[in-house]
Amino acid sequence: MTDCLPIEPAAPQLRRNRQARIVWGGRTVTVGGDAPVRVQSMTNTDTVDAIGTAIQVKELALAGSELVRITVNTPEAAQQVPYIREQLDRMGIDVPLVGDFHYNGHRLLTDYPACAQALSKYRINPGNVGKGDKHDKQFGQMIEAAMRWDKAVRIGVNWGSLDQELLASLMDANSQRAEPWDARSVMYEALITSAIDSAHRAEAMGLKGDQIILSCKVSGVQDLISVYRELARRCDYALHLGLTEAGMGTKGTVASSVALGVLLQEGIGDTIRVSLTPQPGEARTQEVVIASEILQALGLRSFVPSVTACPGCGRTTSTTFQELAKQIDDYLRAQMPVWRQKYPGVEKMKVAVMGCIVNGPGESKHADIGISLPGTGEAPAAPVYIDGEKALTLRGDNIAGEFHQLVENYIEKRFGAPVPQTA
Ligand code: SF4
Repeated sequence: MTDCLPIEPAAPQLRRNRQARIVWGGRTVTVGGDAPVRVQSMTNTDTVDAIGTAIQVKELALAGSELVRITVNTPEAAQQVPYIREQLDRMGIDVPLVGDFHYNGHRLLTDYPACAQALSKYRINPGNVGKGDKHDKQFGQMIEAAMRWDKAVRIGVNWGSLDQELLASLMDANSQRAEPWDARSVMYEALITSAIDSAHRAEAMGLKGDQIILSCKVSGVQDLISVYRELARRCDYALHLGLTEAGMGTKGTVASSVALGVLLQEGIGDTIRVSLTPQPGEARTQEVVIASEILQALGLRSFVPSVTACPGCGRTTSTTFQELAKQIDDYLRAQMPVWRQKYPGVEKMKVAVMGCIVNGPGESKHADIGISLPGTGEAPAAPVYIDGEKALTLRGDNIAGEFHQLVENYIEKRFGAPVPQTA
């Protein structure tokens, strides 16, 4: 045997940065520092439609979103924000609302104090707060509102709306260099400078460091990795992370997962959003599901019990195991809004649904509860493993139904509240 050292398990690094706090109605969500990486999402309803927006915020929150951003783009939208908050409180939806402002945020936050108060965080895009002399004044008005109402801000730079005056001045300075950088590097520099300089300006006005979160979003995977590595190196503010305009379906999911996965593994990112374009008919909550799955896959958080299923191959006789895996997965996910309170710890449970005996029993033993369905030429029996031991074998036409019941019984027994002992 060769002389070698034990292989260390891979794990995400820790970034020791400042913690930001988001406060609403006497409650606080912390972001950064030793807080778990938070899942964020954004509505696509018209904010003027207060009921429709409150319903979508509720759906996103129940799917696991811990912060929900809404568009605040007009006086009419600003007027509805307190009612949206009121509706959420009435429905018992305990999630902070973030207001997304561009161009007129300084006016809306000044003219509609109830809106400024009802929101828990303001997203400020330094590229969209005004040009020339107006830029600093209008940015300052938004920071003053944050200080007045004790709100956090996200200084959210986006390469699609980068401060053009800053970019032009960095381009000029670059042209004076003996060896000018390429245009992409200057653009990276402009994104980072815009975010950090704006944060410093806000702090100079009196906003506390724990009220500031930064983001620098771009739509290319390698660009995002380059920008966030440098942003994390240059500052210790809490960072919101996301690939902007990630796209639809598989493309958006894969691009976001790859980009966020690399950075989160390096300890970069304190809140995340997956900016997925919903496919026609697809639920808005899909972006929350993907963001949660990214964190869960990296071992950073647990949100729902995981279902391990094999891909199937020529040894599988039917689609039974695929259907069973999907049914169990859908069922566990659908129950989580209630189970989070009823069965604390259930989100860490592992279920295995396997197609034959090649890997079925082995994978089932690694799960809390697992089933190995019969493959081609195997006896029509499905061994079930519970806590690593073979517990029973299911046979007949109702294997799926019986396994479903076994999973429910397992959850109740292991995660249900203990029955109080009577004297
Ligand atoms: S466990 Fe069996 S059915 Fe599933 S992929 Fe492996 S060999 Fe194929």
